[in-house]
Amino acid sequence: MAAPDPALYALLRSTQAAYTAENWEQCRQLAAELLSHATAAADLPAEAQAHVWLAHAAQRQGEHNLAAAHAVSALTLSQGLDDAQLQARARIAAARVSWSVGDNNQALVDLEEAMRSLAQGGDSELLFDAHNQLGIVYGELGNDEASIAWHQRAMALAEHSGVPRMRAISRTNLAGRELEHGETLLNKQQTEAARAALERSLVLNEQALQIAVAAGMQHVQVVIRSNQGSALALLGRQQQAIEAFELQQQLAAARKDQAGKVQRAQYLARMYREAGELTLARRLAAEGLEIGEAAGAKNQLVSLYELASAMAEQQQEFAEALRLYKRFHALRGEMALDSAQQRARVLSVRLETERALAEAATARQNAQALLQANQELTQRAEALGRDAMEDALTGLANRRRLDAYLNLRHEAARRAGSALCVALIDLDHFKRVNDAFSHSIGDQVLRQLSRLLQAHCRSQDLAARYGGEEFLIALDGVGLDDAVLICERLRQAIANHDWALIAPGLAVTASLGVCDIAQHPQWSAGMKQADTLLYQAKQSGRNRVCA
Ligand code: GH3
Ligand code: MG
Ligand code: MG
Repeated sequence: MAAPDPALYALLRSTQAAYTAENWEQCRQLAAELLSHATAAADLPAEAQAHVWLAHAAQRQGEHNLAAAHAVSALTLSQGLDDAQLQARARIAAARVSWSVGDNNQALVDLEEAMRSLAQGGDSELLFDAHNQLGIVYGELGNDEASIAWHQRAMALAEHSGVPRMRAISRTNLAGRELEHGETLLNKQQTEAARAALERSLVLNEQALQIAVAAGMQHVQVVIRSNQGSALALLGRQQQAIEAFELQQQLAAARKDQAGKVQRAQYLARMYREAGELTLARRLAAEGLEIGEAAGAKNQLVSLYELASAMAEQQQEFAEALRLYKRFHALRGEMALDSAQQRARVLSVRLETERALAEAATARQNAQALLQANQELTQRAEALGRDAMEDALTGLANRRRLDAYLNLRHEAARRAGSALCVALIDLDHFKRVNDAFSHSIGDQVLRQLSRLLQAHCRSQDLAARYGGEEFLIALDGVGLDDAVLICERLRQAIANHDWALIAPGLAVTASLGVCDIAQHPQWSAGMKQADTLLYQAKQSGRNRVCA
């Protein structure tokens, strides 16, 4: 990773703190801020982490579709990164979303992947989250044995780390599972085993409670009290059960825990029924049903309707028993439907998000490919442009470029009434250079000569290869007298150059014909005059300038 951006780092830390404190609203706001920062900074790990937290927060707030979209984004982003921990985090977030909509099989797949990612060791909190969630999911799948085993492992991890949150949560969840296990055994008439499970649940609850109180974890205390009350009620300890539910109601007062009230009604009604106090049991059940219906707490209502129906039947009130049973049946159907619809929605969000991410990735790749193709085209065009305008051997302007230059500057010079002098330069006896040395030495001479020509030109001037060993310089805005001086200096520079550097014994001179082509209405006529002057220079002994 690149050097951490301090603002991004601070956001990562405060979001983590809000997540650990289970302050979901704050976690959500901070994670959203983190996401926009990370996206702007193109920090993919931070972006993936922000999606993980957003998935958790949305899931806790019951927004399953949003949670699913964030979980898939986290998964997809993390898969592109070589970071096993981040991949595990994303998997755990995805598992929580699946679990919360009742898709426990998918949750199990994600958790197994998370465990694989964590096999090389991960931070203890992450490992704990995976174990804890496995315990929860196995429990929902009805595998109490596996559920209890995972919760016990989570508890061992929590003990090892010493973190109060993990210690309290692992015990609370294990106590909750032992409670349900005990209830299942009771329903199967396995009284002894049921009692043992319920007693274990109570011990764990008591331990969890002490840790939660010391750490100020109030909402965990509500769950613990409720589980305590339920276990005590199933064990028939009336006074203690009522007390535990009393304490739960006090703790939950601020939270208006309607679901908790329905659960309380269910366990106390069952308890009084066992004790033969059917009238009291039925009154409690009726109250619980009313509260549950008003609050739409379907989950808790199902068992209570079943119990209420059984009690009505017991008292020979068959019409009432049938009414209650019908409601029980309808609710169970509604819940299955709700759950199936929610699962389908989450699945479609998952698929939609995956498709959108894949499309974005393709678009990015396409954009990258286009950019690259464009760069190649530009380079190619530049190269082609150079080929069209430059002489390959010397890099000087070629005839095409020279023509364009002369067309423009000749016209401009004539309009401005200024000079445009041209010198035609031809190497003397160049054939002999080729013959005596080699064609390749000849080429080196031509390249060296072009450097000398360029050294005598300013930016507004032009040095060109006219053809073969014939060259040209155009001096823009320089009068003929000055042009002759420049050409004379150039002639001397050529004659005095240390040509032996190319080949021992090599000497080179050139003849020049100079004229002001701005004096001619057509520049071609000026070029003819320069050529004539060059011929004169050759005729009068070479290595000279004629103007
Ligand atoms: P003069 O002094 O009369 O100009 O004699 P010269 O030998 O230079 O003139 P001529 O026109 O007879 O010969 C020109 C020579 O330049 C012939 C040709 O082989 C050579 N030449 C033309 N282009 C190139 C080139 O690109 N590389 C090399 N090495 N030689 C070239
Ligand atoms: Mg020639
Ligand atoms: Mg020549």
